[in-house]
Amino acid sequence: MNAPDVHPAGGHSDGGLWSIDNLPYGVASTGDGSTQVVTRLGDDVIRLATLAASDGVRKWARTFDHSSLNPFIGQGRSSWSAARRWLRTILQDDARRALVAAATTPLADVTLHLPVRIADYVDFYASEQHATNVGSIFRPDGAALTPNWKHLPIGYHGRSGTVVVSGTDVVRPVGQRKGREDPAPVFGPSVRLDIEAEVGFVVGGETEVGTRVSVDEAAEHLFGVALFNDWSARDIQAWEYVPLGPFLGKSFASTLSAWITPMEALQEAKTALPAQDPQPLEYLRGDDLFGLDLQLEVRLNDTVVSRPPYKAMYWSPAQMLAHLTVNGAGLRDGDLFASGTVSGDARDQRGSLLELSWSGKEPVELSDGTTRSFLEDGDTVTITATAPAAGGRRLALGEVSGRILPSR
Ligand code: CA
Repeated sequence: MNAPDVHPAGGHSDGGLWSIDNLPYGVASTGDGSTQVVTRLGDDVIRLATLAASDGVRKWARTFDHSSLNPFIGQGRSSWSAARRWLRTILQDDARRALVAAATTPLADVTLHLPVRIADYVDFYASEQHATNVGSIFRPDGAALTPNWKHLPIGYHGRSGTVVVSGTDVVRPVGQRKGREDPAPVFGPSVRLDIEAEVGFVVGGETEVGTRVSVDEAAEHLFGVALFNDWSARDIQAWEYVPLGPFLGKSFASTLSAWITPMEALQEAKTALPAQDPQPLEYLRGDDLFGLDLQLEVRLNDTVVSRPPYKAMYWSPAQMLAHLTVNGAGLRDGDLFASGTVSGDARDQRGSLLELSWSGKEPVELSDGTTRSFLEDGDTVTITATAPAAGGRRLALGEVSGRILPSR
């Protein structure tokens, strides 16, 4: 087995998007029968428990010898930094190339698992463009944004038990729906199955119930970033969501990428937030609030249907985390919060089919000549993203992909 190419710019077919700048974390089963924490370098996977054991670093050998990232996430930010320093050092050390090679497996030969045992899952609604589009579609006679929207990051608690790893098939949900013209609700498979292209934030460092995490403390708890697809059955959602919010229209499945990119890898992606007017309340203000310049791409089968820009998001991850805990809700290792659908100003920057097709009025054309307003059985949706890295390079986030199976 050859040692992986560790040149900072990478030497792989993907143009170096998985270089030493990146080093995301995942969990994989490899040919030797072990399941452990891994990282990715180019088209290879490096088994971190194996590498740490052979390098004689017992702390990391124990930390990474698990089928989830939770024990690592629970160690807090100083450990996250120390592990990344160890990893970057060993990958650039010619004297330890043989150790790295012995812990390396081609990506194609491993099975990737859901990398985090998800504790609580919250979904926000942080894109002004998305909220405006949805408001215009669902409430055409009222104000597009609700009166609270610019005062707090709106969110709801979702179902952590149905967060699945990228590559998992999604069964079309069944449920109740009632169109405007229907005299009574009907039951059956959703006929308006949709995607929501989102970014997820994985949280670590438990806090006591009754305490809160300030915007300035948020960085201590933000472990990493992943792509996320909040599959949504619009017809079920529209009938059930008043007055308590999303329920069965969303809880059937949400897909998380297999790779969690550490926040430390995204220092070059930090960017200013859009202007917040009116100024939010004191607990949502901070001196170094940041957005992230992540460029998403949404592919439906073989057609790129959208390129949503994350940097347009109104609320910062630190504000979302501060709001999530301001009532004293404690954090648990493995908590996950998602940003809400990422949509930009342009039509081809919208992160859901509801918006892209304007609720079915303007179907999206695919490269095979067919059109879509919502998903059909057999459709595959893949969301990818890249971000700026050091030296003008870029890095990739782990893709999130899923195929729709017929209802059961
Ligand atoms: Ca959502």
